[in-house]
Amino acid sequence: MEPTYNPPAVPEPTPDQPAVPEPTPDQPAVPEQIQHHNVLLDRVKLPGETFKLPSGGIFYDHGELSSEVVDGEVHVYPMTAIDEIMIKTPDLLFSGKSIVEIFSRCIPQVLKANELFAKDVDFLLICLRKVTFGDEIELEFTHDCDHAKTHKYKVFMSTFLNRTKYIDPSKIATYSATLDNGQVVTLNPIRFGNFVKIMQNTSTIDKTRADDTDYIINQAHIIMIDSLLSAISSVDATTDKADIREWLDTISSGWIRVIAKVIETTTEWGPEFTSTETCIDCKKKFELLAPLNPIAFFT
Ligand SMILES: [Zn+2]
Repeated sequence: MEPTYNPPAVPEPTPDQPAVPEPTPDQPAVPEQIQHHNVLLDRVKLPGETFKLPSGGIFYDHGELSSEVVDGEVHVYPMTAIDEIMIKTPDLLFSGKSIVEIFSRCIPQVLKANELFAKDVDFLLICLRKVTFGDEIELEFTHDCDHAKTHKYKVFMSTFLNRTKYIDPSKIATYSATLDNGQVVTLNPIRFGNFVKIMQNTSTIDKTRADDTDYIINQAHIIMIDSLLSAISSVDATTDKADIREWLDTISSGWIRVIAKVIETTTEWGPEFTSTETCIDCKKKFELLAPLNPIAFFT
């Protein structure tokens, strides 16, 4: 038998040339093709949709939105099961934590959800519901006509979105009140984080102390001042919250009322949670008001 020579398939390494090249920062040691690719995931990544915030993003100049956002247009991706559980967990929802987390995953262009206006957050919740569960929702409603029964009405997220009132940039300058003494108070729409805090204050009132007049008045006062503070950007040139709080505690009730009136005008924009429906019993048209509570809204 003649001996055969089988050359080695791989050349022997020499001291100068190692068999496997050393990884460099540009070339990872493990090529990307080797990483596992789960083909199941290819067809579940829904594209989501882009929506224009009702504020137009106009007031956001402290990194609330990612720098690539133009004209307040953000992309909203559908929620996953974990997001849905979070949004239905009252404690998390109540602390505002679930909104911050869900937005970070589903609306990654929102960098500081707590700093968004509460109206923009309301709007984004409608968008989230639309991209996750579709346009349609069934809401139970009882009309106020005689012998009306409770019926399920089909309403559409797109109706709420189409009825959204966008902020009028020319009106922003009018978010201010000039008091009789010449002091000028500038105001801003309330931010989500402040809104959550006020809701928490309201809920921490100890109901067993309902007969304690001093306590109840004091708590109501705290809530009122906190609400006013969260809507005030400045008084004259002062933006210091502690100074403004002290000032609010001192000024007359009449001036508080003047400020509160202007605050009302800062809320005249945002999504509408109403849909025109025809009553199944009396056949008359009515405005169905959808629940603002996200828990009800997402159930
Ligand atoms: Zn009716």
